[in-house]
Amino acid sequence: MTIHLPKVLDIQNKTVIVRVDFNVPLKKKAQGDSFDYVVADDQRIRSALETIFFLKEHNCKIILISHLGRPDGQVIKEFSLEPVAFYLKQNLGLEVEFAHDCIGAEVVEKAAALQKGEILLLENLRFHPEEEANDTAFASKMIKDTNAEVFINEAFSASHRAHASVVGLAKLLPSFAGFDLVAETKILGRILDKARHPFVVVLGGAKIDDKVSTVQNLSKLADLVLVGGGIANAFLKASNIEVHKSFMGKKAEENVKIAKAILDEHQTERTMINIAETGKSLPLPKITLPVDVLAAKNKDVNDEKEVIHLELLKNVKDSEHDLDLQYLDIGKKTINLYKYLLSQAKTIFFNGPVGVFENPLFAKGSREIAKSIASSTTESGTITVCGGGETNAVINACGLRDRFTHVSTAGGAALEFLGGEKLPGIAVLEK
Ligand code: ADP
Ligand code: MG
Repeated sequence: MTIHLPKVLDIQNKTVIVRVDFNVPLKKKAQGDSFDYVVADDQRIRSALETIFFLKEHNCKIILISHLGRPDGQVIKEFSLEPVAFYLKQNLGLEVEFAHDCIGAEVVEKAAALQKGEILLLENLRFHPEEEANDTAFASKMIKDTNAEVFINEAFSASHRAHASVVGLAKLLPSFAGFDLVAETKILGRILDKARHPFVVVLGGAKIDDKVSTVQNLSKLADLVLVGGGIANAFLKASNIEVHKSFMGKKAEENVKIAKAILDEHQTERTMINIAETGKSLPLPKITLPVDVLAAKNKDVNDEKEVIHLELLKNVKDSEHDLDLQYLDIGKKTINLYKYLLSQAKTIFFNGPVGVFENPLFAKGSREIAKSIASSTTESGTITVCGGGETNAVINACGLRDRFTHVSTAGGAALEFLGGEKLPGIAVLEK
């Protein structure tokens, strides 16, 4: 069973609804103009362009739908896709209409007015709780209001979600895979087949609630999982290491429980790592945690004097340090340890910044890790793959884009794909 790109006859002159992933990092604009937020990294937008141009060329009316962030079923301006519509017009020269909702009167009106080759971007799908609930009535209404005749999934990075726009629409309309989605599955599939060992994963980021459990799948595939960023906090806490006010995700207690179970299960597994020039090997725990961190009272501090370097000692309840501290980057010992381990790898997957890289005071860990991985592509011929919205932003900011074997737009979806999971958004396209 395979997924198929649309043929010209499937889409020509039709109204096509395309699930894209325009969940791009935004930054607050310093001053003026009509929008408070601007696109900070456009990788995900660019990856959908081939499909969009294909549809334009064949006289389709194009309806683009996406989520952005996690507004949890509520209308929150910070998560509006309007800055993305603006970006498509200003920076990519695409004529795009924007509707301030993804269903309802404005959508009906603007979709009806759409001419062949024109594009209409709808507002954030997740402003409606029905999106994440995979509500069929919601998907039907979207089809009715937009007059969509064909569905294309061009959001590999959202395909691990059985949501209305990913799975629901695909069940109701003739459905195809976009160019980027097909390319991603091919490349990641090949990596999975060819992966050489040691296979080392660097896992960071903030989506603890999602990512904690993926460590379980990854550890079947990988020889070492180097944990950093927000997600490390759950694992540190599960190892009885104090994390103070560090970010723990919404389901903090549950995450620590899951982390503990994963650590326990892999407790006895050790990966032998060669120690440079000694000819000796050292056994390392499969799930490796930071040994030191940079901490501060909040992630927005802008003075280096407010940043504290902490060594993390097992079973030491830390009473000396300020109880308000948050761990915001990995420390220099951890950077060196992780860099060394990465230099031993033959395959590397990197998802999730290991610190709050948006603040230059906490960007060092992520930048050093990214640089180290990039250099092993060229120097040791290591297969290097990275993915994720913010991970892409780090890679682009460091100018390292061309120095990985593959840069995926996907974080969570790539993790699940590599972990051997069948993604619901892809399964539903298989014929
Ligand atoms: P990706 O998009 O690459 O998959 P995530 O969305 O999971 O990554 O997480 C990215 C975010 O994680 C970044 O915005 C970064 O600020 C945040 N982050 C990294 N380390 C920490 C930390 N120690 N505490 C809180 N947030 C963190
Ligand atoms: Mg992200």
